[in-house]
Amino acid sequence: MKKYLDRRAYREQALKLLPWICARCAREFGSERLRELTVHHKDGNHDNNPPDGSNWELLCVYCHENEHARVEDAKAGSAPERKTAAATYRPLEDLAKLLKKKDKG
Ligand SMILES: [Zn+2]
Ligand SMILES: [Zn+2]
Repeated sequence: MKKYLDRRAYREQALKLLPWICARCAREFGSERLRELTVHHKDGNHDNNPPDGSNWELLCVYCHENEHARVEDAKAGSAPERKTAAATYRPLEDLAKLLKKKDKG
């Protein structure tokens, strides 16, 4: 058993641990709309996936995009370097993949 979860596993694990509610706008999601709920990493490190869920937050795709835009804005204002893992992560790209797959378990 691996200590850290891979990218596919952490979403399932997060959905098991956390209520299916967007942490920003408090929208609730049922199983048919669950693909619109995405896993956000609180520390911005997508490789940091503790199985207890302490680094995860469930956000709807809209709030997730806003959250990252906000972080990008903050970075643009303060730090000169913008080439981080968070900057290249695209939650909507993941969503597109999920939509194609249509929840096969
Ligand atoms: Zn939301
Ligand atoms: Zn995120």
